[in-house]
Amino acid sequence: MPLQLCANKPDCSNLVERGYCQQCAAKGCGRDMRPTAAQRGYDGKWQRASRAFLFGKMCVGFPKGRHGEVLVPAAHTDHIIPHRGDKKLFWDRSNWQPLCATCHSVKTAEEDGGFGRPYRGG
Ligand SMILES: [Zn+2]
Ligand SMILES: [Zn+2]
Repeated sequence: MPLQLCANKPDCSNLVERGYCQQCAAKGCGRDMRPTAAQRGYDGKWQRASRAFLFGKMCVGFPKGRHGEVLVPAAHTDHIIPHRGDKKLFWDRSNWQPLCATCHSVKTAEEDGGFGRPYRGG
């Protein structure tokens, strides 16, 4: 990607791939350049619902049963079917499962096609 001037022009002449440079971003510029968690649907309402859902739950494992008999406290509410912005899937509790941080990152990496590679799962 060709470099361009920081979006905080003309005050700043740093070159960036897009948006604001790190200095300007640190100053608070361009806070609205990237979609925030809230804009992706993960707002306070979700945080609360997720926390309530996870309360006292153990990771179900991804792939299922990866922890065997070991009980690992869940840290993430995962969407079994990726919601991809679909509000109905997003809020459908039957589509939620408790995962620990490790399982969640494994699943996320797989859904994202393993960091750039196309996903060939069935
Ligand atoms: Zn800048
Ligand atoms: Zn786990």
